[in-house]
Amino acid sequence: MRVLKFGGTSVATAEALQQVVQIIQGEVASNGPCMVVASATAGTTNKLLQAATLAPYRCEDARQILAHIADDHHTLAREVIDSGSLLHDTLEHIDAHIQRALDLVDSLHVLQEWTEQSSDALVMTGELLSTTILAALLQGWSTPVSLIPATELLQTDDAFGAATVHFPASQEQCRRRLLPVLREGMSVVTQGFIGATADGLPTTLGRGGSDASASILGACVAAEEVQIWTDVSGVYSADPRLIPTARPISSLHVGEIRELALYGAKVVHPEAILPALEAGIRVRILNTFAPQDEGTVITNITNDAEHHGPLHGPLHGPLHAVSAVQNCVVMQDAPTDGLPLPCLLELHTVDHSVKVFQPTTAEQRLLVGTAPTVAVLCIVGPAAVHNATLHILGDALQEIDVLATVMGTSPWAVYAVVPQSQCLQALQQVHTLLGS
Ligand code: ASP
Ligand code: MG
Repeated sequence: MRVLKFGGTSVATAEALQQVVQIIQGEVASNGPCMVVASATAGTTNKLLQAATLAPYRCEDARQILAHIADDHHTLAREVIDSGSLLHDTLEHIDAHIQRALDLVDSLHVLQEWTEQSSDALVMTGELLSTTILAALLQGWSTPVSLIPATELLQTDDAFGAATVHFPASQEQCRRRLLPVLREGMSVVTQGFIGATADGLPTTLGRGGSDASASILGACVAAEEVQIWTDVSGVYSADPRLIPTARPISSLHVGEIRELALYGAKVVHPEAILPALEAGIRVRILNTFAPQDEGTVITNITNDAEHHGPLHGPLHGPLHAVSAVQNCVVMQDAPTDGLPLPCLLELHTVDHSVKVFQPTTAEQRLLVGTAPTVAVLCIVGPAAVHNATLHILGDALQEIDVLATVMGTSPWAVYAVVPQSQCLQALQQVHTLLGS
């Protein structure tokens, strides 16, 4: 059994939802019942968070936001559901979720209260709405499906707004609630991002938490695979906006993902997918809008690069991908503390320390003054830190004034500090080496 997680853009429009239904039906036809985890439609979580903040003092504005959300979901439901009675029931369910949210806003207004707990109770509405529509749509297409609230599956602590899942309790709840349904040949739809405390109070797992939900649910039911369906065809060898020839990589180690995420790439959050990986379940990133694309498989096969050489397991080629953090600054012998700046890299020579900072606010830029502007390239691969690779890399970067090459923080990555003005050229040079 597989877990299929669909992100906000995959459930936000009628066209996207039609694609999602086809993907799920294809999965059911070839592999039997599956578990579907969905995010709120793109933008809805932001609106709900805003409504929660406004509720205590500007109740009418908060109610307005909910009215818009209701309209959007009514429209979406009407666009995708044909059958009269199914549509009627779906609109009623949407209205019930909205009414609950409105009641909550009114209570917060009376109490003039905002807490993480009340915010979670309101924000969960986004996922309740999207899954209501998705489950009805599947039903309309005669796919046997049961909508089970994630609050009955994932038990969390009471750290509202960023709750942690209690694994054994959740596994037990999943066994009890899911197995009978799956055994009957029905697929399950549930919400990403939300859970509940042991007392039944709704919680959220933090922004972007749906990937974590899918990964944890996958581990709870010992799924065969966790698929994260998004709007790109996997993890790319470089940012395609900078390197048009960049292409999706078929397989990556989570160690590579971690480095790419730290150094400028927009990739899946490595911590979110760890529960599945640690349970021995592969995670695959796929594109809802190009479902035939192969996507990227993320594994956590032991780091053989360190011990047994690069060409091992599904990972081929010494280097896989390159990312960059641009507009950084280099400072020599900067004080270790007292500089309120994110430090990206640190290197030490015999008598100097060199640090690369990434100023993001105007204040931070003022602080660094006239320090030279650089970019940090992060080059990942199973043999990134091998001597032979470093030689090839050195050759490729011959025309670049490389200020420093840094390694040692991860067996999966090597970093090159280059002048900002040569960042694109350096990226292009490195990219020619990848996957070879
Ligand atoms: N809807 C939530 C968010 O926007 C969770 C998710 O999409 O993963 O953060
Ligand atoms: Mg997301």
